[in-house]
Amino acid sequence: MTALSDFIRPDIQSLTAYQVADLPEGFIKLDAMESPYHPFVDSDALLDEWASLIKNAPIHLYPNPATSGLQEALRNAFHIPGEAKIALGNGSDELIQLLTMLVAKKGASVLAPEPSFVMYKHNAALYGMNYVGVPLNEDFTLNLPAMLDAIEQHNPALTFIAYPNNPTGVCFKREEVEQIIAAAKGIVVVDEAYGAFSGDSFLPQAGSVENLVVMRTISKIGFAGLRIGYASGSATVMDELAKIVPPYNMNQLSLATAKFALHHAEQINRITAQLKQERESMFAELSLFGRLKAFPSDANFITVRVPDAAMLYETLKQNKILIKKLHGVHPLLDQCVRITIGAPEQNEAVLAVMHKLYA
Ligand SMILES: *Cc1c(COP(=O)(O)O)cnc(C)c1O
Repeated sequence: MTALSDFIRPDIQSLTAYQVADLPEGFIKLDAMESPYHPFVDSDALLDEWASLIKNAPIHLYPNPATSGLQEALRNAFHIPGEAKIALGNGSDELIQLLTMLVAKKGASVLAPEPSFVMYKHNAALYGMNYVGVPLNEDFTLNLPAMLDAIEQHNPALTFIAYPNNPTGVCFKREEVEQIIAAAKGIVVVDEAYGAFSGDSFLPQAGSVENLVVMRTISKIGFAGLRIGYASGSATVMDELAKIVPPYNMNQLSLATAKFALHHAEQINRITAQLKQERESMFAELSLFGRLKAFPSDANFITVRVPDAAMLYETLKQNKILIKKLHGVHPLLDQCVRITIGAPEQNEAVLAVMHKLYA
C-alpha cells in the first residue's frame, strides 16, 4: 500500500518550516527588521485618506498589477531608469523564487556569499539546483578572489548579492560587486532589501547592464505587512520573468496602499532617516562595551558578537524582548545575535539588559 505521504517529495518532508515568531502581548519585537512605526498612524489626515482609498478599492475585481500605477509610482519615487523593466512580487521573497525558477535547468548553479539571506539556498534546493556558498571574510566583507574563482569554476546561472547583506549588516564594496557582475555570465541579483538604509544603490544601472537585476522591497521601510517587492533589469531577463509571474500575484488592497504611501514618500523618508540615526547611536553605545563586537551596519539592524549568545537571547526574552540568535546558523556567526533597530525606548530597553549583563 502506498501511503499518502509517499507522494510528497522526501526532500521537502525532511525540511523544517520557516519559524515565524508568535509573540505574547507586550513583547518588543526586534527579530525581523520590521519598522517600529505604522507609517500613517501619527497623521489623522493620512489615515482618513487611506481609509477612503481602501473603502473604494475594487476588491470584487482581480487586480491588474501592470495597470495599477504602482510601477510608475516606484519609478518616480526611486528613480528607476526608463530602460529598466519592472516586475512586482508578493514580497521580494516571491521574486527570489521566480528568478530561481527562471534558470532552474538541470545541473545549473546558484551562487551566494555566506552567511547571507537563507532564502537563496532554500529556493535553489526547492528547484533542484546546485548551491554554491562562498564564505565571507571574518569581518563579513566579501572574499572577492574566492567569489571570482567560484564564478569561473561553477558558471552560476544566478548569483545573489545582498547589498547591504543580511544577517551581517555589512555593505560590500561597490567596486567588488561591479567586478562580480562583470565576471558572471549568468544573472546577478543585487538584493537591496536594506537599500533605503544605506547610501548606495545599483538601481541607476538597472536596465543598462544586461545581466543585472536589482531587487528591492518596501517591507523594511514600514510596509512588511503589505508584501510588495520589485525587481528591475534588462528586457532580456525581465521579459522572460514576466512569463512566469502569476497574473494575480498582487492584491488590490496592497497595490492601492503602496501607491498611496509612495505619494507620501516624505513620511517614509522621515522615519527611515530617524531609524538610521538610531542605528548610529545604538552602534556607538554597543561599541562602548569592551566584551562585545558590534559590526558596522548599513541596514536597520546591528549584528553583535557577544560572550554568550544563547544567554543574551534568553535574558532579553525574559525581559519581553525578542531578537534573532544567529549562533549555530553558520560558523562565521559564532556567538552572534542580530538586533533590529526599533524606536528609541525599545533600543534603550535592550541596552539596559546588556548593561546589567556586560557592564
Ligand atoms: C527581508 C529580506 C527579503 C524579503 O523581503 P520581502 O519583500 O518582505 O519578501 C529579501 N532579501 C533580504 C536580504 C531580506 O533581508
